[in-house]
Amino acid sequence: MTLVIPHARSVPDAVPPVAGARLTVPLVDGRRVPYANLDHAASAPCLEAVRDAVDELLPWYASVHRGAGFASQVSTKVYEQARDVLRRFVGARRTDAVVFTRNTTDALNLLARALPRSTSVVHFDTDHHAALLPWRGSGVRRLSGVAGLDAALRDCPTGPRLVVVTGASNVTGELWPVADVAATARRHGARIVLDAAQLAPHRPVDIGALDVDYVVLSGHKLYAPFGAGALVGRADWLRAADPYLAGGGATSLVSDRGTELAVTWSRGVERHEAGTPNVVGAHALAVACETFLHHGWPTIRAHEQALLTRLRTGLATVPGLRELSLFGAEHDRVGVVSFAVDGQDPGLLAAALSAEHGIGVRDGAFCAHIATGRLLATAGASGTRALRASLGLGSDEEHVDRLVAALHTLVTTGPTWDYAEVDGRWTPTPDPRPLPPFLSAQ
Ligand code: PLP
Repeated sequence: MTLVIPHARSVPDAVPPVAGARLTVPLVDGRRVPYANLDHAASAPCLEAVRDAVDELLPWYASVHRGAGFASQVSTKVYEQARDVLRRFVGARRTDAVVFTRNTTDALNLLARALPRSTSVVHFDTDHHAALLPWRGSGVRRLSGVAGLDAALRDCPTGPRLVVVTGASNVTGELWPVADVAATARRHGARIVLDAAQLAPHRPVDIGALDVDYVVLSGHKLYAPFGAGALVGRADWLRAADPYLAGGGATSLVSDRGTELAVTWSRGVERHEAGTPNVVGAHALAVACETFLHHGWPTIRAHEQALLTRLRTGLATVPGLRELSLFGAEHDRVGVVSFAVDGQDPGLLAAALSAEHGIGVRDGAFCAHIATGRLLATAGASGTRALRASLGLGSDEEHVDRLVAALHTLVTTGPTWDYAEVDGRWTPTPDPRPLPPFLSAQ
């Protein structure tokens, strides 16, 4: 087999470094190889800057908001400063609220719960389940493409309206025409929430330039895997809504009225942050945002786009491989590619890529069952599951070339190991790969 792409290794020094870049993983044949992490779209590795910042914070970590101790005051400042960084990262308006959440799913559910009564919601059925499922009730309209947006909004009853749009598809990496969607939404007086989970790690997100009202994102996709995400946007609906969770931190006063409790909820966004907040996660997320702001996007984008071209060019040479696309092969996209290979089980391919080649990809329907099923059908592929390779700051040319070469081998000569389906997942049998000592020692 001859590949037209040259085999060269280039370590992406020009982009912010990630922890684990030199990780090696065991193969079933007993060798160890550098890990080719091509699953950034699911969860990105930790930025070294984030890891170091968390390390620096940990000795100071203490209770926030109500603690009188000096370390508590430091932790409180860290947490509140993180809101300012998030605000800058997405170009928020001065009056916008920043609510820390667990992730994008949490942020969208929060917003769904905070909508004024009788809000009409218009969204797209090809979205990730996080953007698809939180909206309930008779006021929800689900579209299969942007072409129907204008008419759907025209049909909405008078009252508040919200359009849900995704920045970059987690299946194909393709960019949604957010500014066009926003312009249509504005003509009908609708607000817009942008699911930036996949966009924010790859491109600048600017609330003003895109003319959206809310942005949601996840720290673990933004190289800050410490359990925090955020909802940034207009404060009025959030302030007027019932608290997302009831509990400490969301209240300004609770008093005993006999059989009832009299509760005064906090007036600010804290009303949606009940319980002890994730200070470390918020700080990690803020440091990641700061790193991107400071580094700037041109080198990050150039690094990724060069690898993406290499990946798509290489994948196109694999016999029977069909790439999935929402908007067409030439459409602008981030470094995410999903595909099916004729006659091949994506789960088995993914297992063999890991066990025999040290490559991490994802298989399945990517929490976007409608999109994946439809795109597979459009591509002429059978089944409901695909493979996804996703690039990021930890990716390099060797990872891409290894994936392409491994797919050629697996598709033409098949796996060299035995595999069996265990609990619905293909697993090497036997699997002699040793776990790392910290895990196997337990
Ligand atoms: N939206 C998109 C586009 C995603 O890709 C994902 C996760 O893959 C989500 C939302 C949900 O993100 P999280 O799992 O961090 O809540």
